[in-house]
Amino acid sequence: MNFSDFSFDPVTQDAVKALVRGGNLPHALIIESRDQKASSELARFLSMYAVCEAKERPCGVCTNCVKARKAEHPDISVVPPDKDSRTHKHSIYQMREITKDAYIIPNEARAKVYIFEDADHRLTTVVQNAFLKLLEEPPRNVCFILLCKNAQQLLITIRSRCTVLRLRGSDSPDEQALESAAAIARGMISPKEYELMLALRALEEKETAHAVLNALRLILRDAAALLSNGKAVADSKTASALSARFTKIKLLRLYELCGEAAIKIDQNVNISLLTTWLCGEFRRISWQR
Ligand SMILES: [Zn+2]
Repeated sequence: MNFSDFSFDPVTQDAVKALVRGGNLPHALIIESRDQKASSELARFLSMYAVCEAKERPCGVCTNCVKARKAEHPDISVVPPDKDSRTHKHSIYQMREITKDAYIIPNEARAKVYIFEDADHRLTTVVQNAFLKLLEEPPRNVCFILLCKNAQQLLITIRSRCTVLRLRGSDSPDEQALESAAAIARGMISPKEYELMLALRALEEKETAHAVLNALRLILRDAAALLSNGKAVADSKTASALSARFTKIKLLRLYELCGEAAIKIDQNVNISLLTTWLCGEFRRISWQR
């Protein structure tokens, strides 16, 4: 899978990779995010993936990819609200037209994609029920992508037929988490072990531990981005301190450890054992030559 033209965070990249295991998109997908731009960008990426014919998809350069990128691909439709709807909703009439169209084989690519933006607002209950018929007998090689802020607003019958992908507001972690994560990052650099151990106490509360680990991953990703002439988005000061100190390989290893720690937290490991383990691992990586 080729993410090079897109700036998804690693958590999203992992989720997308898991989504297309086996090489095919699910026939119906809900992307839930408060960030409409981020969900539209992901829908664009997935539709490129669906139509691209290169080995490493989406290649970004084949005719299908180029047309998809420019929103000019005949097999990818971003369905606008019904032009007669004053409240910008979809209509039964539109849904009937889409149902007819979806069973017709694609024009140029091997798959078709329909994207519904703002689906939790634009798909009324009546229209969702019409949509349901389509999802019950999904046409071959078609993917419906529903973008919404809150998937709970959609009928449960729709949700149960879709794969739901939740994008965390990963580029805007809360400040408290970011601060705790920055302290851990400084602890990684510090020669004094107790500084790292002290900072890792931020993981003691299970509810906030995930947010701290995600923020730490963001900072580590930023540091790696700086080493590739990219930009830091979360905490540029801490990221540049890390990038001055660690190689990209070390940053990646530290990043992976955060993921391993998150899994352990979900498995309810003893938190003080976890922080001791994490402290040892962080320091082993930080200080090994
Ligand atoms: Zn391509």
